Amino acid sequence: MGSKCLEKFLKEGLEDLRSKGLYNQIESLESPNGPIIKINGHDLINLSSNNYLGFATNKRMMDAAKKAVDKYGVGAGAVRTINGTLDIHDELERKIAELKDAEAAIAFQSGFNCNAGAIQAIMDKHDAILSDELNHASIIDGCRLSKAKIIRVNHSDMEDLRQKAKEAKESGLYNKIMVITDGVFSMDGDIAKLPEIVEIAEEFDLITYVDDAHGEGVLGKGKGIVSHFGLEGKVDLEIGTLSKALGVVGGCVTGSKDLIDWLKVRARPFLFSTSLTPGAAAAVIEAINILMESSEAVDKVWKNGDYLKKGLKELGFNIGNSETPITPCIIGDEKTAQKFSARLREEGVYAKSIVFPTVPLGTARVRNMPTADHTKEMLDKALEVYAKVGKELGVIK
Ligand SMILES: *Cc1c(COP(=O)(O)O)cnc(C)c1O
Repeated sequence: MGSKCLEKFLKEGLEDLRSKGLYNQIESLESPNGPIIKINGHDLINLSSNNYLGFATNKRMMDAAKKAVDKYGVGAGAVRTINGTLDIHDELERKIAELKDAEAAIAFQSGFNCNAGAIQAIMDKHDAILSDELNHASIIDGCRLSKAKIIRVNHSDMEDLRQKAKEAKESGLYNKIMVITDGVFSMDGDIAKLPEIVEIAEEFDLITYVDDAHGEGVLGKGKGIVSHFGLEGKVDLEIGTLSKALGVVGGCVTGSKDLIDWLKVRARPFLFSTSLTPGAAAAVIEAINILMESSEAVDKVWKNGDYLKKGLKELGFNIGNSETPITPCIIGDEKTAQKFSARLREEGVYAKSIVFPTVPLGTARVRNMPTADHTKEMLDKALEVYAKVGKELGVIK
């Protein structure tokens, strides 16, 4: 018998979530996470992955990973700062810096670890962080770990940011002030107003930090949000993930050489968690090679995103303010959104419902992520199913 108080806590917690329709049942794929996935023996059109460019199953990348496994084995053997830095980690960091037109780069084991490590390496309890209210959970946790004062900013509200930056600066309470934002907001698909943020940062001497997890491989011909806006050299910390468009796993921070030197001695997940596997490092290097050779995959994901968006909009769905291939279908009520997703699934389309706490209560949605590998036929079939289920559940007329 385990602890009684734990048993009570878990039982009550799970019951509460289930009764509110907030419990997420995890299902396993019996196939790669491509445009068609297999679950419980059924083939489904997949609109839920972050595999924007289809790189998770890219042959060149798979071959690069296999070669690296043959040369280095399956594990790096240690944390980066002891002797877990292989030459391919160095090569990976040079490649990332090249892709991002940055002075230097550091690779982490995940995008989450970048935020868990980089913020607290720079900020402390004598500092303040201006944080967009819709920032990703890993940014929120990273901010908390730093012990800096967290000042929430209304979503993409530049008046509010300016006002709060001015107050923080004039209060004289803080040594350093940082402004931190998602590049592309992952649940809505809108893009941060980075040029204005940089302008406000220059006015009040703010450190700028953008997490471009959903932007790289998608915005700026694949180079990400900084390139999209032509702001090279004007953002202090640019965070990326190697797990979404790049198709593998890991995260990266790019910036000045001094910044990267500092993170390599102060970012805790870099110091205390084993480095990226050789296979992952090699696959990401190849992903960047492919991205720099051709914009074919990037062009395709935009084309597919635009097509799906237009189709859903014409059917009468509320797709919010997306400016990227991320296409939310906002339904509102949590249980209806979950029912919607379940019905899509029965009809052969896998599009996950996203509910609180991932999005605010009452803004539950089904989120669609088309990729470069979807065909027009797949998207047409998905739209047909959307029309049917939408009418059935009274979401559209
Ligand atoms: C997905 C995501 C992360 C986490 O990246 P992983 O590599 O999956 O750990 C961090 N920040 C944002 C904004 C994300 O969307």
